[in-house]
Parts: sequence; structure tokens; C-alpha cells
Amino acid sequence: MENINIDRAEQLKAKLQEASYAYYVLDNPIMEDTIYDQLYRELQDLENEYPNLITADSPTQRVGDKLDKQFNSVKHNIPLYSLENAFNFEELNNWQNRWQRQLENIPKFNYNCELKIDGSAIALTYKNGIFIRGLTRGDGVTGEDITHNLRTIRSIPLRLNMDNPPPILEVRGEAFLPLEEFNRINEEREKNQENLFANPRNATAGTLRQLDPKIVSERKLQFFAYNVYFNPDNNLLDTQDQALKFLQQIGFLVNPNYQVFTDLNQVKQYLDTWEIKRKKLPYMTDGVVVKINQFTLQNELGFTQKFPRWAIAVKYPAEEMTTTVEKIIVNVGRTGAVTPLAIMKPVTLGGTIVQRATLHNLDRVRELDIRVGDTVIIRKAGEIIPEVVEVIKDLRPTESQPYEMPSHCPECNSILVRPDKEAVTRCVNSSCPAILRGSLIHWASRDAMDIRGLGEKVIISLLDYKLVKSIADLYKLQTFEIADLERMGEKSAQKLITAIEHSKKQPFHRVLYGLGIRYVGASNAQILVNNLHSIDNLIKAKKEDLELIYGIGEEITNSILEWSSISENITLVEELRSLNLNLQQENNHSDSKKKLSNKTFILTGTLPTLKRNDAKKLIESAGGKVSGSISSKINYVVVGEDAGSKLEKALKLNLKIINESELLELINS
Ligand code: NAD
Repeated sequence: MENINIDRAEQLKAKLQEASYAYYVLDNPIMEDTIYDQLYRELQDLENEYPNLITADSPTQRVGDKLDKQFNSVKHNIPLYSLENAFNFEELNNWQNRWQRQLENIPKFNYNCELKIDGSAIALTYKNGIFIRGLTRGDGVTGEDITHNLRTIRSIPLRLNMDNPPPILEVRGEAFLPLEEFNRINEEREKNQENLFANPRNATAGTLRQLDPKIVSERKLQFFAYNVYFNPDNNLLDTQDQALKFLQQIGFLVNPNYQVFTDLNQVKQYLDTWEIKRKKLPYMTDGVVVKINQFTLQNELGFTQKFPRWAIAVKYPAEEMTTTVEKIIVNVGRTGAVTPLAIMKPVTLGGTIVQRATLHNLDRVRELDIRVGDTVIIRKAGEIIPEVVEVIKDLRPTESQPYEMPSHCPECNSILVRPDKEAVTRCVNSSCPAILRGSLIHWASRDAMDIRGLGEKVIISLLDYKLVKSIADLYKLQTFEIADLERMGEKSAQKLITAIEHSKKQPFHRVLYGLGIRYVGASNAQILVNNLHSIDNLIKAKKEDLELIYGIGEEITNSILEWSSISENITLVEELRSLNLNLQQENNHSDSKKKLSNKTFILTGTLPTLKRNDAKKLIESAGGKVSGSISSKINYVVVGEDAGSKLEKALKLNLKIINESELLELINS
């Protein structure tokens, strides 16, 4: 075993122990649960690979943390286990294979799926039908006696609704704080200048372990029951769904959203549905618990040291991930801006594999103090570009060194400058190859001229072989020149030439966006086209003309004026004109106005490039209306990522659903 693994395991154990103490004992977490889960998984994987690393005090070997001495510790009648986690469908499938391999014959079975309520696990004991004791989960074997506090929760019956209650009946479930109540408590704490609770789960745990039951009764905790045990053996009940119905009969609140399924494909549909629907619930959930429904099968499978083998918690994908930094490089963009980038060990985030994250600029690098070898937390900003949000300094390798930005451009070796007051470091050499390369990549990109087959690699080859020196040169390329490039050949070369030729038909707003004027994004290009109609008008426009345009601010105005004053840009425009590219709007403004008049749109989800407000302005500038609520009168539903209930309703109403590029086509057709 390499020392590096021993060191890493020790660091992970120490960090997880610290987090677990802050979470379970202080009710004041120091990291997000999803980050805890990932570091825990990394330690688990290391321990699986090198079992010598496992020590009795490893967080993987126990449930919860030390108990709080303020409360009486009481041993549970039946240990209160945690749940194994699955973070995607494949892991759920693996779990099914695992439990099935354990059996000689697989009997008929089904799965009971329940929402995983994000609160605190509680064990309640009823003697002859009367509530006598309630415990926290504690370390799973021993819990803290919080009976006095649990008595204040209305959804915990003090007497069971049963004619002949058994001598002892035990109920397990989740105590939780509804979101509205959680917000109210935090608002009150803010007013009283007290520390805020990080999330409803910690607020629940903190409330349950209050010494004063009066405070507890003021915070309206709730309780969902999900397990019941009584003697003689649960012979009334054969399955988990029967147990839930029984719990309801005897007076408990049971979460109504459970469902029984015969196979994992149906379970997957339930997972997908609740991934969206859960956001509308008045309480927090952090996944779904999939349980084998039949108690005989549950008993046969039993427990590991920590988990039941017959149940698993499927957690929803994290919006943040941890990974390690392998390199820090700088990228020179088409405006000469030098952006530091972290190259990381690849991880899946929001459905895509992420390996690079922007570090924005030198200030951000210094603020983060990010170094090669660091463990970092990354997140997708605006759903698209990943960024580093935090460096976990306790997991830093001892020999790491602070990162220094290069003083010279990695592309053309000229000195990099950082003008006063600006955050951005720049290469100001206008013939730096990175600037031309960036401009060409942008020109060919999907939202600009959309030239299929002209990706970054091909552009780099074209530049290496000095076949193009400007955007206009793309249109002068010959098939044989491209065919000679590495991995090209006659056929692909011909295809590429056709695609380049075809791009001449792209409408003016795409050309304008493709020119890459600073701050002129896809939506601003559209606004400029709707108002100025041609490149000549844009070049002629004075400051006051531009400022009059609704949606065009000072920054864009200045950038357009600067761009128009550079003679190379005017030469490029003339070349593009002689090549027959569209440099004016085809339909005049009033035509396009007619196009969307009487059409009502609704916007839902995050669009890939347009901000919600910009999309609204575009639709309105073409004569359409944007509505806030869905009805059968809507003509188009424009859908982006993470579209919520509006999309569901739209599907039910059979409305026409379009994406951002279809919207832009509609405006420009
Ligand atoms: P868990 O929360 O992942 O799952 C087990 C728990 O799920 C059960 O004990 C029960 O309380 C609950 N549950 C909710 N609904 C349920 C249902 N319908 N059926 C059965 N159980 C249901 O595991 P855990 O052991 O309680 O805690 C570990 C988790 O705590 C980690 O995954 C991590 O997210 C979090 N944690 C976070 C930190 C931190 O620093 N942020 C530290 C320690 C632990």
C-alpha cells in the first residue's frame, strides 16, 4: 500500500470525524451533506481496496456520533440502523444483484418505495398502548432519551388507537420540521441575533435535543412513522405497505406518497417523478428509500453491521461534487483575457463529465488559495460552466505550493498585463494566435454560424498549417487543402466545405453574434438586429443612437463603438460582404412584428444562452406576448433545463413545446 493512500485515508477520517461531530452533536454542520457523502464514499473505496486501513473509530464503521451527555443514554430494544446509499440507477441495480446473489432461490417479491424524509430518526416505545419513551437514533445501539420533547409533537399519539394493544410496541419514523416552520424559526433567530440553523434536518435535531420542552412545543415538529415492531412477532403484517396502513390505523401520520412496484424500471419512474415533484413538497426530502416489501424476505437477508440488506436510500444527484486538482493552466480567450483553469480528476456533475473548472481570475485564485493536489468542491454555475467553490484545506497534501500565474502569454510569449482596477489579466498582442483561434471557434459555434465539423481540433490544424489567417479565409478554403489535414480525407473535407458554404445563408443576427464583439451575446445581437437592421447602420451608429435601444446598456455601447473604430474589423466586414454573407436583416422589423403578433409564449426552466428577461424582450420586440401562467391559450411553451410543473401542465394540455434555438428561428424565419 502506498503512503499516499495511508495519508489520504487518515486525512479523510479526521475530516469526516470533525464533520460528523459538528453535525450529530453540535447540530451545526461544517459541510453540505452531499460533500460529506462523497468524501465518505472515497474513504469507503480506499478501505475496500486496502482493508488494513479500517480502524474501529473509522466513520465507516459506525452510525451517528458520540452521544450528548446532557441526556440519559438508553439502549435500543432493536438497534436502529442507517441506510446504504445509492447515488444513481446503476448503483441501485448493483444492490439488487447483490441481495439476489445471497439467496439460493429468489421468491416472488416487490419493492415498497417511500420518500426519504430529511429529519431525525426516532424510536418510540408504547407499553400497553401508552407512549412511555422516545429515543434519538444516537449511535444506533444506544439513543438519547428525549421523551419529554417528543410528547409535544401532535402527530405522535400518546395512546394508540387499538383495542387490545400488545404489551410492548415500538414505532420508528422521522421527526422533521416543515419548511414554513423552519423558515419562521430562522427568521426569529435572525431577529434575536442567534446563529441560524443550516437546514431543516439540523434544526430538527437541535430542537429535539432542547432541554426545555416549552421551546420544543413552540416549534411545530411533525413525525412520519415508517416502521413498527411488536410481540408476538408482527404476525398480523406480512409486508411494508401493510405496516404503513396499520400505523395509520393506530393513529400515526404516514407519508402518503409510498408506492409498491414489481421491478426496478418502475422504481426508476418513481425516482424520476419525485426528483421534480419533491421540490414542491412542504418539507425536505433527500432521496427515496427502496425497501423489499416482504418481511419474510427482509428477515432472510438481515443486516450488515450498519445497514439492512433489504433497503437502500437512493439519493438525488448532487449539485456539488468533490474532486482533486491535477494541474492549473491558463487559457487565452478570443478577447485576449487570460483565464486560469483547474484541470481535475474527472467527475460526473449534473449528468456530464467534468474535468475543467474556471478559476475566473487572479483575485479568485488568491481568494481560494487553490493549489495542485488540492481537494476541491465544484459546482455548475448557471447550470453550464463548472467553477470551484471551495478548497478543503484539511485534505491538502503537505508538500503543496501556492499557485503563481505565468508572467508571459503561453501562446505568444508576450508579457501579460493587468490594467489597474481590472480583475482580468490580458494578452494585449493583437496577433496572438490564441485570439484568432478563439474568434474562429466562436464563429463556427452552434449559436453563431453553426458550422458542423469545424470544431476546435480542425481549427487548430488549419492554423498550424497556416491555411487561415482570418474568419474570411474560411470561405476561401479548397477541398484538397483540408483533405491533406491529419485524420481528414476527401469525403470529410468535402462535407466541411459544404457546411462552410452553407453557413453563408445564416441570418444576420448569427453573423453579428459570430463577430464576437465584446458583450454582444446571442440575445443582444438579436436586439441590435431588430433595431438597426444592418451592419452598416451598426457601424454608423453614434453613442446616443445605441443608448436609445431598449436593453443595450453603456458597456455594450462602448464596446460596439470601440469595435467599429478598428480598421481591421471594417476590412473583415467588407470581405464578408464580398463573400455574400448576410449583413442585414432579411425581413424588416414590421414584418417580424407581424410574425409573432397574437402569439402568446410561456417560459420555463433555464435556457442555454438567453436570460429569462432577454428572452421576454426578444419575444416582445417581435410582437409576441409572454404570459406568467399556463393555460390552453398559450401558443408556445419555451422550455429550458430543469423545467418544473409548467412543463408537466403543458404536456397535459398538449401545448406546442419549443427550445431556445427554435424560438430564435421563429423570430428570424
Ligand atoms: P441517511 O440519512 O443517509 O439515511 C438513514 C436515515 O434515513 C434513517 O436513519 C432515517 O432517519 C431516514 N429516513 C427518512 N425517511 C425514511 C424512510 N421512509 N424509511 C427509512 N428511513 C428513512 O443516513 P444517516 O446515517 O442518518 O446519516 C448519514 C447522512 O448524514 C450522510 O449521508 C450525510 O448526508 C449526513 N451527514 C452529514 C454530515 C455533514 O457534515 N454535513 C456529517 C455527518 C452525516
